[in-house]
Amino acid sequence: MPPKDTHNEPTSSRPLRITALAGGVGGARFLRGLRAVLAGQSAEITVIGNTADDITLFGLRICPDLDTVMYTLGGGVEEAQGWGRREETFTVSAELAAYGAGPSWFRLGDRDLATHILRTKWLREGASLSQVTARLCTRWQPGVRLLPMSDDQVETHVLLPGVPEPVHFQEWWVAMHAAPLPTRFVQVGAERARPAPGVLDAIETADVVLFPPSNPVVSIGAILAVPGIREALVETSAPIIGVSPIIGGAPVRGMADVCLKVVGVPATAAGVAEWYGPQLLDGWLVDERDADTAVEGIPVRARPLLMTDVDAAAAIARDALRFAAEVRPLRE
Ligand code: GDP
Ligand code: CA
Repeated sequence: MPPKDTHNEPTSSRPLRITALAGGVGGARFLRGLRAVLAGQSAEITVIGNTADDITLFGLRICPDLDTVMYTLGGGVEEAQGWGRREETFTVSAELAAYGAGPSWFRLGDRDLATHILRTKWLREGASLSQVTARLCTRWQPGVRLLPMSDDQVETHVLLPGVPEPVHFQEWWVAMHAAPLPTRFVQVGAERARPAPGVLDAIETADVVLFPPSNPVVSIGAILAVPGIREALVETSAPIIGVSPIIGGAPVRGMADVCLKVVGVPATAAGVAEWYGPQLLDGWLVDERDADTAVEGIPVRARPLLMTDVDAAAAIARDALRFAAEVRPLRE
């Protein structure tokens, strides 16, 4: 529990509003900690989830990051892997492979498929992705309001040297193991996308905004590419605190360093903070190993940032909230 004196209790009786941007595994694990810190307090957590990793396979719309957040907060995730359903089986994938039907690089579990089948059915019936996500969450009860960044389709594709057609981010990431180095990322559809209902309001009316340790380029960066979202973050009176996904010059897991290289950003805690910039960040949490990090215009604080379990993630979230209250006293 954060000590009372770090939060000016809102004078109205309304709950504290925390808004977090999130990708998949890094975001979801942080959010589970944040939810634990705020348990028993009057607080609402709104999560703006990345949907630019979404892909259509076998006619099914798959939203990997929304599902990772939903399964993790709903207690249904394959814990060691960090994504996908626990106690998963792969009978359908094996049957598809027996038909020679691809792609084989994106393994779809049987339990997970139920989510994609329902989502696709509801989307075809005319529901928006926001509505579909809310319906799926009635089962998982994640304890947060999970909003897609946009109801409009946005997909990150990569341009590869010598390859004329862009490749979907998932194919490059999963099948090609993030090689070769793309010449650039393209968020297809982003320029026409509108923030999903509730997204801008959640930023404007937040008491605190958090950037979990998600991939800065293809997770948080994709959310920021939806017109209006970055502007709302620059404008909001809420303090924005980020948590570094880079520790000691390398991502904790995954290949975020390759993504940073594509956009010309050093894979360091300082590099990521500079990429977000002082217009967005009011505070940047780095790992103890990066305690010497200095970023112009952004206060930096060091603490252990490994989310080894829920308690460790909760301790990070608690410090992020304290940091927020110190850099900008919360609403009077
Ligand atoms: P993805 O969509 O599944 O790739 O997940 P995110 O974009 O939300 O998060 C990926 C990032 O999480 C990677 O860059 C990792 O470095 C970071 N990450 C994973 N585990 C940890 C952790 O324990 N601590 C910190 N600080 N970052 C982590
Ligand atoms: Ca992702």
